[in-house]
Parts: sequence; C-alpha cells; structure tokens
Amino acid sequence: MSEQIRADLCIIGAGSGGLSVAAGAAQLGARVVLIEKAHMGGDCLNVGCVPSKALIAAARRAHNMRTSAPFGIVPVTPAVNPSAVRDHVQSVIAAIAPNDSWWKEPTALGADPRFPNPASEPVLAAQQHLLDEALSNLDDERPDVTDLYFVGFAGDAREDVFRKDVLAAQRVMDERWGTEGRSLALINNPRTLLEAPAATVTNLRETLNEIGAAIDADQDVVMIYLASHGSRRHVLEVALPPLELAPLTAPALRGLLDAAGIKWRIVVVSACYSGGFIEALQDDNTLVLTASAADRASFGCGHRSESTFFGEALFQHGLAHSESLLAAFEAARGQVAEREKAGAFTPPSDPQIFVGPAMADKLRELDRGNAARRSGRSV
Ligand SMILES: Cc1cc2nc3c(=O)[nH]c(=O)nc-3n(C[C@H](O)[C@H](O)[C@H](O)COP(=O)(O)OP(=O)(O)OC[C@H]3O[C@@H](n4cnc5c(N)ncnc54)[C@H](O)[C@@H]3O)c2cc1C
Repeated sequence: MSEQIRADLCIIGAGSGGLSVAAGAAQLGARVVLIEKAHMGGDCLNVGCVPSKALIAAARRAHNMRTSAPFGIVPVTPAVNPSAVRDHVQSVIAAIAPNDSWWKEPTALGADPRFPNPASEPVLAAQQHLLDEALSNLDDERPDVTDLYFVGFAGDAREDVFRKDVLAAQRVMDERWGTEGRSLALINNPRTLLEAPAATVTNLRETLNEIGAAIDADQDVVMIYLASHGSRRHVLEVALPPLELAPLTAPALRGLLDAAGIKWRIVVVSACYSGGFIEALQDDNTLVLTASAADRASFGCGHRSESTFFGEALFQHGLAHSESLLAAFEAARGQVAEREKAGAFTPPSDPQIFVGPAMADKLRELDRGNAARRSGRSV
C-alpha cells in the first residue's frame, strides 16, 4: 500500500551535504524528505573522510613503533594484520554512524508521531502489564515430557532487524519445535512499546525466574535467543532511547540462568563478536550457538535488513526444515559462509558452537521428541 507524504523539501543524497541541509531545514521546522540510494552518510562516513582517517591513525601507530629510537625506545617492525586493520576501520565507522545519523533520532527519542515515547506514562504503565500478561500466558510444563521453552530478546530498538529476527525465530520455534504456548519475546522497538514487553535485563531476569519456577528443571530445556549489536568486549547492546538500560554480558546472563534454577540451556546469540559469550556460559548442560567468533563481526543488521545473516540461516532455513538442532546449526554455518563469500563480506563471521557433554544426549532426546510430535505420535 502506498503512502502519500507531503513535504516542504526533498533532498536527494544523504552524504555530508544532504544531511547538513536536511538537518538544518528540519530544525527550522520544515518537513523534509531525504532520499538515499546506497548508504546513509555518503562518501565521507563510508569510504572517505572517516575510513581514511582511521587508516591513517593505524599507520601512524606502526610508524611510531618503527621510529621510536630518538625517544630512547627500541624500535620494532610491527606485524600488520590487514583484516584486523579493516575491523578497526569498520568499528570506527560503526561508532560514528549513530552520531552522524540524526535521521534516526525522531524514532529513537520517541518524538516520531507514529510511536509513543518509551519514557511516557502510557508506555510505562503498559509495560508492567505486558510482562505480567506474557508470563501468565505461558503454559505449564507437562509431566514426563521434555518441554522446550523459548525466550527471544531483541536488544536494540534503533534497528528494526532485531525485532524481525526474534519474531521470525519465535514463529519457527512455535510451529516446528513445539514451543507454542511456551514462548515469549522481549522486544525493544518503538513499534511494539504498547504490544510487547521490553528487552531489559530486569525483564529477562523476571522471565527466567518465572520459567525456572514453572519447569521441571531436571527435564525441560530453555532456549534464549539474543539478537542485538555486540562489541569487541562481548557486551550486548540493550537500547531503547531515551531510557538508560543496562547492557547484557555473558557472565550476567549466566548469573540470571543460575539464579533461576534453569539447568538445561540453549543460548543463541546473533551479534558481532558473540563467540565471546561461550566461555562464561559453557557447562555440561548447555548448548551455545553464536553468529560469529569472539573476534569477528557478523553481518546483516541495518535499517533495511529483514534479518541478520545468522538469524535467517539458523531459524528461517535450518530449524525451519531440519530434524536436528545440531544439523540446523551446521547447515546455517555453511549457508552464512556461502553468503559472505558471494557478497565479499570479510573477514568471515565464523559462527561458533559449544555443546556440553550431557547436553549432546539431551539434544538427541529433544530431536526425537519433536520428530514424534510432528509425525503425530505421542511424545
Ligand atoms: C578517500 C577520501 C577521503 C576524504 N577525506 C576528507 C576529509 O578528511 N575531510 C573532508 O572534508 N572531506 C574529505 N573527503 C571528501 C568528502 O568525502 C566529500 O567532500 C563529501 O563526502 C561530499 O559530500 P556530498 O554530500 O556532497 O556527497 P557524497 O558524500 O558523495 O553523498 C552523495 C550521496 O548521494 C547519494 N546518491 C547519489 N545519487 C543518488 C540518487 N539518484 N538517489 C538517491 N541517492 C543518491 C549517494 O549514494 C551518496 O550517499 C574525502 C573523500 C575521499 C574519497
């Protein structure tokens, strides 16, 4: 369905020039439409000023190491890792982009008239109710059945892709893996402030506590799917501006799971550098699947993206068709690698897996139970 937009000014091209004019005109009260065919920020942010200065900064470091003798420091010839330098350049672009991206602010600050402000009274009142309702709607565990529970966590409200990823994953898990009635999604997104409980660490703790109290801990399995931006320090972004939310780390998640008494755990993390989540979470009864190695970015986020590469490959392709969780991951890993190669996304994200020894048996039990359920046999 097409929508008619009335504007005072239409600017074509969101580079330094277009952005400055658009921001100035908007501040003067003009209704501005800004059209960009490629990447917001234009040459300066994406291929010009910013990457070149980041590259020069790296070169200066190397130069200083080679020429330190006059300062009484023994010079060394540095080993240059080109892909790590590229990572550095990309991380500088990523760090500057949100500040450059004034066009996101109306949504992020809740000033977009289509959405309520996250800090407004109606939203605050609705949020408590939404979480209570979602938790009370969870079905009880069934005696003598290995039930699987699903918790989605779309951490960053500033990009719609995380909401889409988590909802698509929940759909697949409900339809193919029997979590219907035992799944819920915590979502940070301006669109869902009055529909879905927010993805905060507090809401995650309450959710896990509730599920931990409801399940048979020796038998049932809880899957958590985290989708957001991740950092090199392995911190998951939790953002719903203007609220100041605590980020999520792997040790914090481990603490929440331990405190909730959840023994059998499947943790899926779709975020850059998410392999760094494995160390703190690994134990006999845990499966961890991550979109990337601890030192690698993953791909597919962004405003226009319908899904992250890993989220799509694992849930919408792998788990939507496979009879086995581990086979689904292997298929997803191959698919991500092919897609990255075809699109020249480098370095490869290198998705990671950790399977606890006892969890390997538990996964076979889950696979068998699901196969039986799908074929209509009793489980
Ligand atoms: C390597 C390099 C280093 C640089 N370093 C510096 C520096 O240090 N300092 C400095 O001041 N400048 C620097 N520059 C120059 C700076 O990048 C440019 O001056 C600046 O980007 C120009 O901005 P602009 O908005 O005019 O154009 P652009 O940044 O080119 O933006 C134009 C935008 O329009 C979009 N577009 C084009 N056609 C259409 C269409 N039909 N429909 C929709 N969108 C369209 C494009 O996709 C693009 O995003 C550097 C440039 C390079 C290449």
